[in-house]
Amino acid sequence: EHALQQALAHQQMTLHYQPQVLSNSPHTLHGVEVLMRWNHPDWGMVPPSKFIPVAEESGLIHPLTLWLLDEACRQLVAWRKAGLVVPCLAINLSGRSFHRPELTREIKDALIRHRLRPADLVLEITESIMMDARPTTRTNIDTLHFDGFRVSLDDFGTGYSSLSYLHRLPIHELKLDISFVRDLTTSPSARALTLSVLSIAQTLGMVVVAEGGETTGQYEWLQMHGCTSIQGYLFCKPLAADVFEVWLRTQLLDQAPASDAQG
Ligand code: C2E
Ligand code: CA
Ligand code: CA
Repeated sequence: EHALQQALAHQQMTLHYQPQVLSNSPHTLHGVEVLMRWNHPDWGMVPPSKFIPVAEESGLIHPLTLWLLDEACRQLVAWRKAGLVVPCLAINLSGRSFHRPELTREIKDALIRHRLRPADLVLEITESIMMDARPTTRTNIDTLHFDGFRVSLDDFGTGYSSLSYLHRLPIHELKLDISFVRDLTTSPSARALTLSVLSIAQTLGMVVVAEGGETTGQYEWLQMHGCTSIQGYLFCKPLAADVFEVWLRTQLLDQAPASDAQG
């Protein structure tokens, strides 16, 4: 916890970016997920599975998220200035942040500082946030929606997956959990459950992003069954900003070649 505090103060945190591509047009971006990384001077890269729980317990997750928001907005503006087409960034929000009455204001302030709009972000929340009955959490979700932010439900299918909440809350997008995607080509029940998720989303007018697509078999199945977008190693691993920029220029349609941006 102490080291994490130091990390925030001494710029040891960095961001990685992973594309979400349209299944019908894999050279077109749906969005980009921003993932936090901790580069410790002695320990090297500490994985999020190690430091996010510590950050959540200690309350450091909120200041870390505000730092991430500012840095991600700065990066998005820099990419767009260089002629790169990045429709939006997906940001992971912690349940802790939703307990703060200031949350919506803080997110909007970051956008104002960088002259961005709510449509430039997608806010990823977990099912436990969706189920949180605290008035502050509910008010934050409603206010964010009212202000034009899109909310995406992360790891869908692993938590409570309460269908009544799905239809009562302003959810724009479902992220089909990696555990379903992994088993798609081998397990009939994973396929049946995925079809149900796709059908619920379609009926409720929601977009589905499949997480962890690693094989062409998974990709082809998801595309054939109407899944909007895919995020996974098949297309690109999460990358540091400079490496990701090269990926954008070389892999996607409609992106400025490097020489344009330099000249
Ligand atoms: P997540 O939000 O579900 O993020 C997706 C995770 O899946 C990322 O792990 C990503 O690297 C991994 N992934 C993407 N494609 C593939 C694939 O094809 N195969 C496999 N095996 N994995 C894939 P990562 O970056 O290690 O992050 C793990 C978790 O840590 C995230 O899961 C999220 O819950 C948390 N996390 C990461 N950054 C942040 C953050 O900024 N804020 C918060 N609150 N949580 C974060
Ligand atoms: Ca996520
Ligand atoms: Ca996820």
